Amino acid sequence: MLYDSLNHLSKSETFKNAVLKGIAPDKGLFFPRQIIPLKQKILNELSKLHIHEIAFEAIQQFIGNCIPKRKLKNIIEETLCFDFPLVKLDKDIYSLELFHGPTLAFKDVGARFMARCVEYFNEIENENITILVATSGDTGAAVADGFYNISGVNVVILYPKNKISIIQEKQMTTLGKNITALEVDGVFDDCQEMVKKAFLDPQIIQKIRLTSANSINVARWLPQMFYYFSGYVSASKFGLPINFSVPSGNFGNLCAGLIAKKLGLPINHFLACTNANDSVPRYLDSGIFQPNKTIQTISNAMDVGNPSNFIRIQKIFNNDIHKLKKNISGYSFSDSETKSHIKKTYKKSNYILDPHGAIGLLGLQKHSKIIQNETGIFLETAHPCKFSDIVESNINIKLDFPNKLNNIFKREKKSIKISNYSEVKEFLLKS
Ligand SMILES: *Cc1c(COP(=O)(O)O)cnc(C)c1O
Repeated sequence: MLYDSLNHLSKSETFKNAVLKGIAPDKGLFFPRQIIPLKQKILNELSKLHIHEIAFEAIQQFIGNCIPKRKLKNIIEETLCFDFPLVKLDKDIYSLELFHGPTLAFKDVGARFMARCVEYFNEIENENITILVATSGDTGAAVADGFYNISGVNVVILYPKNKISIIQEKQMTTLGKNITALEVDGVFDDCQEMVKKAFLDPQIIQKIRLTSANSINVARWLPQMFYYFSGYVSASKFGLPINFSVPSGNFGNLCAGLIAKKLGLPINHFLACTNANDSVPRYLDSGIFQPNKTIQTISNAMDVGNPSNFIRIQKIFNNDIHKLKKNISGYSFSDSETKSHIKKTYKKSNYILDPHGAIGLLGLQKHSKIIQNETGIFLETAHPCKFSDIVESNINIKLDFPNKLNNIFKREKKSIKISNYSEVKEFLLKS
């Protein structure tokens, strides 16, 4: 399988090179040249297969010859080592819980898959690589955990000081070894700016091999399609058309769902649900894509003004907005709607939402006023305790933290304070 740059100026690359480069030299996102639907026989028998087998069938063509089959199966088994339960909230309304991984957010699957691919490529090439990421919280935690102890890989995470939750900070600053956290005096956009600058800095890229680990990277983006296969299999027994509501920021997750549909998974419809950063819902209304400056909200993992993966979504529909609208509806919600929905859902269904999942559910319920007799699944993308300050004050209870977090508060935070780009550069050049 070859990957083309969506800016069309760079040459095509194999999966391996697309992963190690992250982004094409012309700054375009990589996109698979072909998407061949799965054989009907496999699609008919999904419910008889183990999720590991389904995942292998789904992703194999995107890897091509870059990873031997046995190794790929191994990577999938190690990636998908926790469940994605489907929990009923109401008639035809379900939560697909994607937060049972090690860092309690859905980004674990992509991070674990990518880490193991990079580890394999390193084994055969033996050239060290540095993963550089800016994070508003969840990406950094998932990448730190996914890449921890992976040989030949150094991870450098930039996060905005005092702008992430305590758990998120502990998850990325207490591991040590090959994981370094840079604590930036600024907001997420400042971190992002510094990372972009480093990727273009000739002195840095001559000396070290840099790649990214956000959903721009195909190895983090594509495995997210496994959720849709898993959710579909769990819900297919209801015999109704299946809709997925996806709380979205950079739109990697939703875009992976569209790839699952291209592979033949019969998903009826997608809901693109956002907080006040509503570039995509506005586009679906007006036909004009006009990104705004990022607005800070309580669902901060979705605070993205200009979603990178939007261009991949357009590519999937050949830039035809009519086709796009047939497949995706957009909804956006304010912080106050989000908070009151967390409260309302707790009272009505005794279910504790996190602020991101709450937006997915809000969209689903709004959509189901128009459409009935269809199964609606919203993706619950983070465990509520990751955003305990917002959730607890809203519903007046103390949340139970999962056992795997018990030790984290005792571990010592280690970070390097950063106030400007030249300090980032100095750190990278001496490491
Ligand atoms: C990253 C994230 C999102 C947004 O996912 P995208 O793929 O960027 O659209 C939603 N919820 C949570 C909890 C996240 O961490």
